[in-house]
Amino acid sequence: MIDFPVIFINVTSIAIMGFVLFAAYRRRDKQAAAELSIASLFMILWAVSSFAEMLSDTFEMKVFWRNVTQIEVFMTPVATLMFILAYTDNLRRHAGRIKQFAYTYQAVAVLLILTDSLHHAARKSVSLTSQGLYQAVVVVPTILGSILVAGNFVFMLASLVLIIIAAWGSLKSTRKQVYSVLFGIVVSVAYAFIKVSNVQFLQSVPISGIFAISGFLMLLGNNRYDLLKLTPLAYEQTFRFLGDGIVVCTPQGQVIDANPAALSMFNTSLEGVESMLRLSSSQWYELILAGKQSNFSLQFTDRFFHADLYPITNKRMEPVGSVTLIKDNTMLEEQRLLLTERAEKDGLTGLYNRQTFIERVEVELVCATEASHLLYFDIDHFKKINDTYGHRAGDHVLSELGAMLTGWIEPQSIAGRFGGEEFAVFSSSIDSEQARLRSEEFRKLVAQHLFIHDGSELRVTISMGLASARAASFDRLYRLADTLLYQAKAEGRNRLCSGQDAGQALQ
Ligand code: GH3
Ligand code: MG
Ligand code: MG
Repeated sequence: MIDFPVIFINVTSIAIMGFVLFAAYRRRDKQAAAELSIASLFMILWAVSSFAEMLSDTFEMKVFWRNVTQIEVFMTPVATLMFILAYTDNLRRHAGRIKQFAYTYQAVAVLLILTDSLHHAARKSVSLTSQGLYQAVVVVPTILGSILVAGNFVFMLASLVLIIIAAWGSLKSTRKQVYSVLFGIVVSVAYAFIKVSNVQFLQSVPISGIFAISGFLMLLGNNRYDLLKLTPLAYEQTFRFLGDGIVVCTPQGQVIDANPAALSMFNTSLEGVESMLRLSSSQWYELILAGKQSNFSLQFTDRFFHADLYPITNKRMEPVGSVTLIKDNTMLEEQRLLLTERAEKDGLTGLYNRQTFIERVEVELVCATEASHLLYFDIDHFKKINDTYGHRAGDHVLSELGAMLTGWIEPQSIAGRFGGEEFAVFSSSIDSEQARLRSEEFRKLVAQHLFIHDGSELRVTISMGLASARAASFDRLYRLADTLLYQAKAEGRNRLCSGQDAGQALQ
């Protein structure tokens, strides 16, 4: 009869193996875990059938269970080798072919054994012998049978060698895990050798106990080494070291976490992040409450940020919060502003270039209800300045005149460099008399101004055409101002000629 401790060891071990199978199967999306679940399934079947053999009363039943065991005896080493190949990531390119060959080879062995339960190519004899408290089946293999069983040792030793190599070269951080798998394999291999070498004192240890230890060690090593364990660490490190800000909020907008980058962006502590977000973006709070994926921009002091808001949902797809990813866009924004400035403005005078000037004026004209005025002026005898003092002196005059114009115009007026030494100013919301007086004022200002370049003192005068109109197009205003400018030149220069668009009633 079988005593209680043996039953207890078997049942407990099979339960542990069941746990190993369950835990490995849950992670089957990882190759190593999938292979381990196959190996542990064979180990369980092996343990169960050898336990069943032990419990069987008749010789036939014992032999039947022994034959079932043979399937697992041949499959477990291959499955274990496949686990080690996946775990150590060795021979990756050949793993598929090795798998095919090894399983086929072992399947042939199994078929040979199962041809006839008693008389076949692999076994000389099958008999019963008393072993401790129960009757054990003793199989005497033929030479072929021995060769087939030797195949198992080849696979087992291959696993052992591969894992020893992996342990040898393992990193400090994963060494414990690789060693755990190594010990798991050592336990199995050592047991197999002890079995064949007939060391008596261990013969009665049930195979299930060995598998429970071995399988558990392999599971431990695999799962601890598994990326699933590393992933949360990687998340944490990313959160800590990412240069972009990360802010985690409840659906109500309460900030519950923010990474160091977010804190330094707003130069505040965790408690201050929420008010900073509200302060720097009018949209943020609304978007949080809306709970939809969105993006928005933030401006804080002189810095510009771009933020992406992602809602977080639980498994039932209910909103549980949000994460806001904040990128510092200041450099990009500054570059963008610089490019816009370069595209819109004239480098020498800092005034709008012709194209931008016209665009801006056209926008103003669309909404203008009062009279609009276009002042168009040109430097008198500018060629002479260039010829006498050189082009650099001419440039200097242009640049200084641009600065004078910028300082003189009303904030709501638009000034531009229209051509070589031609300038234009657009204004509205004043009447034509005011416009005329102000233009005259500027003409005098220029005439009185002393331009100094490289020690030379230059006097410059300008001729001006001032066109006023109500609800006119830019073209109309421009044509009139140009005509008036010509008139000023014709009348002797350094003067202003003003006029109103014909047919338009002006105040
Ligand atoms: P007018 O009184 O009839 O206007 O005589 P003007 O000599 O000023 O004649 P015009 O307006 O035709 O001459 C423009 C000159 O301005 C020609 C060109 O050499 C010069 N010019 C145009 N752009 C620049 C510039 O960016 N720098 C300098 N230094 N000269 C320029
Ligand atoms: Mg000129
Ligand atoms: Mg000119």
